[in-house]
Amino acid sequence: MADMREPIETGCPDPWQYMHPVMRKNFGMWKYHEHPRPGVLRHVAYSGDEIWTVKVGTQRILDVFTLRTLCDIGERFGDGFVHFTLRSNLEYMVADAAKVEPLIKAVEDAGFIVGGTQNSVTMISHTQGWLHCDIPGTDASGVVKSMMDELIDEFKSTNMPNRVHITTSCCQINCGGQGDIAINIQHTKPPKINHDLVANVCERPTVVARCPVAAIRPALVNGKPSLEVDERKCICCGACYPPCPPMQINDAEHTKLAIWVGGNHSNARGKPTFQKLVAAGIPNNPPRWPEATAIVKRILKAYKEGARDWERVNEWIERIGWPRFFEEVELPFTKYHIDTWRGARASFNASNYIRF
Ligand code: SF4
Ligand code: SF4
Repeated sequence: MADMREPIETGCPDPWQYMHPVMRKNFGMWKYHEHPRPGVLRHVAYSGDEIWTVKVGTQRILDVFTLRTLCDIGERFGDGFVHFTLRSNLEYMVADAAKVEPLIKAVEDAGFIVGGTQNSVTMISHTQGWLHCDIPGTDASGVVKSMMDELIDEFKSTNMPNRVHITTSCCQINCGGQGDIAINIQHTKPPKINHDLVANVCERPTVVARCPVAAIRPALVNGKPSLEVDERKCICCGACYPPCPPMQINDAEHTKLAIWVGGNHSNARGKPTFQKLVAAGIPNNPPRWPEATAIVKRILKAYKEGARDWERVNEWIERIGWPRFFEEVELPFTKYHIDTWRGARASFNASNYIRF
């Protein structure tokens, strides 16, 4: 009997087995690609082979019945190969141009949308939210769903000056990412400590080490080992909450949303650019987050009307200048937009009990 293969516990599975045969055959040998309509790409190889990709918007959290529906469409109308993108979209690959229109019709008849390519608003990148993560201050699924409901026409068309990547982040410290527009959590009060639970739940040295500004100290409270926070130093980042849930920082009133713009990874044309804060203290207002959505739509409208062809959001702002940007999007520019924080000199790497 053949030896059983050792299970592989980590890393990605071998991608070749899932790749469309035409893509496998022409790997690294593509001559050019075209964009015949929103949501569809046509890649042509040096061999003359071609592959058509149809991009479908889906929600991030898919139930098994929806997945079966989507896979069934891929079997019946595609070539039986699908690919999920980083932004939770589905791509069907077909080698025959005649299959593209029937595939799109099947997708739309099932209630999904085709788009998200080239200079569209792509799917908002989606963090885990309440379903999977232990520390979110808002529900990423809800924010993404309610915003994409309002931006659906911009997903299905390609009328933006360039592509627009929007990201969410449901805590202040972890995932999310660089985006032309980023909707991030913003805590505005230090954590509230439940001293009865700290000794049983938290490894206090780990929690102390997590604080980037050394604001946490071990303390005895009511005769029990606990922690205390120097609120003058605390920058309300929430980094102490994951290793110590009794340091609750999520709060219905004081956990807000903030909007940042202009983030972009480096590419062939330029260096990376960092996002800058443009709106803070926005109500974290489920189930539709109307205040945050209204600001995102204002930014997109001004960008669409004001940017030159192929300018990304950061390039547009760089050209017109930040004062004009704030005028165009009708957002107030306040003293809180200016980073005047000098605490790092007195706290980063300067504590006598912790070194980073
Ligand atoms: S952004 Fe924060 S809360 Fe949201 S999934 Fe990532 S780690 Fe969890
Ligand atoms: S919220 Fe951040 S800055 Fe404040 S105590 Fe916790 S880890 Fe330190």
